[in-house]
Parts: sequence; structure tokens; C-alpha cells
Amino acid sequence: MTTTAPNPAYDPNNVFARILRGEIPCHKVYENDAALAFHDITPAAPVHVLVIPRGAYTDFHDFTHRATPEEIAKFWQAVDHVAQQENLLPAGFRLITNTGPDSGQEVPHFHVHLLGGEKLGPLLSRKG
Ligand code: AMP
Repeated sequence: MTTTAPNPAYDPNNVFARILRGEIPCHKVYENDAALAFHDITPAAPVHVLVIPRGAYTDFHDFTHRATPEEIAKFWQAVDHVAQQENLLPAGFRLITNTGPDSGQEVPHFHVHLLGGEKLGPLLSRKG
């Protein structure tokens, strides 16, 4: 699998980079040569899986602009595979990807949250 050169803004010590290097354990759900899927440590729904690319991309924008077409295709195939593996069809599920400060993105390695297993309610919860 070919990946593009590292983004200088990418922090190689973020927690997902460390999971990819095997320095921190994860509860793996699925993997292919472009992506790894594992359970979120703080689940927000009965099924809450994070899917991350193996390449060093900070967020959705970085991934979309710098990843190869093969990486992008295999990443989204992994997301679809997990949704089927977790029996989320036909009931459905939600994909979320936080990008940048306004979104509240905590981990600066591109990831998609795959949520399901119950009715998920409104898209956004707002305080006050
Ligand atoms: P975000 O706010 O979109 O960056 O989401 C980061 C997610 O990573 C949160 O839902 C955290 O619960 C999750 N997370 C952080 N550390 C770990 C970890 N070691 N294993 C699994 N999930 C994690």
C-alpha cells in the first residue's frame, strides 16, 4: 500500500498513531491494509467503532487531499465492512468525523466514528 509523505503538522505521538504502532492496546474489530477499526474507549452508543487510516493524516481534509485513491477507497470499504459486521443494516447507523477546533476534535489522526445499535436521536446536542 503506497502512502503519501508525512504531513509536517502531523503529531506522530498522538494516541491513534501509538495504537497503530502497537504501543497501546485496542479492541480491534476489523483491519485491512489501509485501515484499522476498533472500539471507542468511551462508547456513546451500543456500537461505537472508530475507523482510522494507517497513513498519517491529521483530519478529514488532510486525508481527502493527500491520501491516494487506493487508500481512500480501502478506508471507506473498511467503514462499510464494519457496519455490516456489526449487523447495523438495515436498522442504520451514523458516521461522524470531527475536523478542527470548532468540531471538538480531540485526537489529531483522521478517524470516523461509526455509531449504532439503537435510535440515535438528534444530530447535535446543544447546551442551554
Ligand atoms: P474526537 O473527539 O472525534 O477526536 O474523538 C476521539 C475519540 O477517541 C473519543 O471518542 C475517545 O473516546 C476515543 N479514544 C481516545 N483514546 C482512545 C483509546 N486509547 N482507545 C479507543 N478510543 C479512544
